[in-house]
Amino acid sequence: MRPLSYSRAATVEEALAFTAGRSGSAFLAGGTTEVDLIRAGIAHSDHLVDINDLPLRAVEHLRDGGLRIGALARMSDVAGEPGVVGRFPAISQALLLGASQQLRNMASMGGNLLQRTRCAYLRDGISPCNKRDPGSGCAALEGFNRGHAILGTSAHCIATHPSDVAVALAAFDAVVHTVSPDEERVIAFDDLFLLPGDTPELEHPLGANELIVGIEVPGASITRRSVYLKFRDRQSYEFALVSVAAALEIDGGVVTDARLAFGGVATKPWRARRAEAALIGGPADHTAFRLAADAELEAAVIRRHNAFKVELAARAAVRALSAVAR
Ligand code: SF4
Repeated sequence: MRPLSYSRAATVEEALAFTAGRSGSAFLAGGTTEVDLIRAGIAHSDHLVDINDLPLRAVEHLRDGGLRIGALARMSDVAGEPGVVGRFPAISQALLLGASQQLRNMASMGGNLLQRTRCAYLRDGISPCNKRDPGSGCAALEGFNRGHAILGTSAHCIATHPSDVAVALAAFDAVVHTVSPDEERVIAFDDLFLLPGDTPELEHPLGANELIVGIEVPGASITRRSVYLKFRDRQSYEFALVSVAAALEIDGGVVTDARLAFGGVATKPWRARRAEAALIGGPADHTAFRLAADAELEAAVIRRHNAFKVELAARAAVRALSAVAR
């Protein structure tokens, strides 16, 4: 048994005050992943600051067509919000394909973004793992790595980022708003998730008592014509082997704008910018979609068990782009 202390904050200011100067503090929202990690000895927080009373649950549609999601909005509330379903279908679909209904009712949007990788070697608590014990090695490199990443990897970590909705949000240029005792920040999605490089233990740039208070998606007509597809070993309550968020704008058979992002294949929600560049200005057809996907996946680094992900990701991208081109 490890002793834990618990505080319940009523305001953002109070939450920040509870964590100030306490190095073992962590914010507690839905608790659907944090509590598991503490029980498994992967997270070492000894002071939990419950933030569930903070007024951060709203889902708001902005005048410019954008979307603002409170960090404590539950996955299920966002997934079913009519404006999200109609104007940002890939976000709604990604949420509904994540976790289980019970977890979606509990898990917060902010927590979803910061969830830790499902790499079994990190979670078993004993295997060499540079994320858990920096410098100890990476058991996945020579171990069973069927579910591991092919993009954005390093010689020190090949773990995938597990979030579904983060993939759709990455495709839509989302940003997160944070507050800390010193400042308020707006962080672009590309900068929120760090590649493992030489320091896989560093997963995001947030300070110890920096709190995500909201997620903002800019208004853009392309989001209406979007889709999220997920491929996995079973059809529910399973993480992606490959997932794709895709959106297109087409004029006279020519692609005028494109958004494409992959999940399940990379160490962060992977915005496929090379594929997007290849798509724009070209025909909206199967051949062009496949060439664009291949351009992105040229950078793939395969391991012993995950080579299949290259072809699966290419086919998934073609299927998603074809769906939104109809
Ligand atoms: Fe740890 Fe990353 Fe290697 Fe998994 S892939 S064992 S999380 S260092």
